[in-house]
Amino acid sequence: MDKKLSLQLDLLVKDLERDTRVVVFTGAGMSAESGIPTFRGKGGLWEKYDPAVVATAEALQLRPRAVWEMHDTLRQTIAACKPNPGHDAIAELEDLFSAVTVITQNVDNFHQDAGSTNVYELHGNAWRVKCVAEGKSWVDRTVPYEELPPKCQCGAMLRPDVVFFNEPLDEAVLNKSFIEAGKAKLMLIVGTSYTVYPAAYVPILAKQNGALLVEFNIEYTGLSAFADVSFYGKSGEILPLFVQKLKNHLAKKE
Ligand code: NAD
Repeated sequence: MDKKLSLQLDLLVKDLERDTRVVVFTGAGMSAESGIPTFRGKGGLWEKYDPAVVATAEALQLRPRAVWEMHDTLRQTIAACKPNPGHDAIAELEDLFSAVTVITQNVDNFHQDAGSTNVYELHGNAWRVKCVAEGKSWVDRTVPYEELPPKCQCGAMLRPDVVFFNEPLDEAVLNKSFIEAGKAKLMLIVGTSYTVYPAAYVPILAKQNGALLVEFNIEYTGLSAFADVSFYGKSGEILPLFVQKLKNHLAKKE
């Protein structure tokens, strides 16, 4: 870890207090070190499948098998991976701050797997499926499916319970996320290219309501000019260091 980054983290933690409402807003970069490729980064899944073409409601109607092939491959990738030290560090924040909410754009369930208990999933969950006829959804960890697309007991097709491109987000989850963002005193924004709306309104709302915005990314993003401070590097390396420094700081104060 370079010295400048370490000093910047010291400056950040020195004013933080246990009694703080914290929201962590995460995107695909959060899970990159777990082995799940990001959409916009190079490599893996998304070079074979274009999510903007395959992960749409229209494609589900016209080419359900192609949609499910991509989704089943994503499920197999997630099943072969696990949360990284960045997810663990975020889960640990619950012991350090009075209120912590994670708002994620990810569908991999890794925040919950790492131990975070208050997670809002803006784009759904890859392990959930939904009957297109009955509208019910449930967790189904079958991987891989023997037949694609998989069927409900009622005979209708199942769909992934994730938000496809051009689909609306779950209104209740989005509203709760906006309310939490508006109440946050500190927002950590991790591994998002900040290009997917309406999720990208989450940091804007927090900032408008006076939160300190702290970004963690490997590169400059559309959010960087707007954030109070940006840390550039891998989240799986910087977040554990941030949490360690925070623990030391809080322990000294108490
Ligand atoms: P994105 O793919 O557009 O951007 C990823 C961001 O992560 C980039 O800004 C990149 O610089 C950054 N990044 C890459 N590696 C990083 C690392 N090790 N540490 C910190 N930052 C890193 O992702 P998005 O903004 O989340 O938007 C794409 C949409 O696709 C979202 O809905 C997203 O959640 C979904 N998606 C989810 C998964 C998953 O569930 N793991 C994977 C791919 C895409």
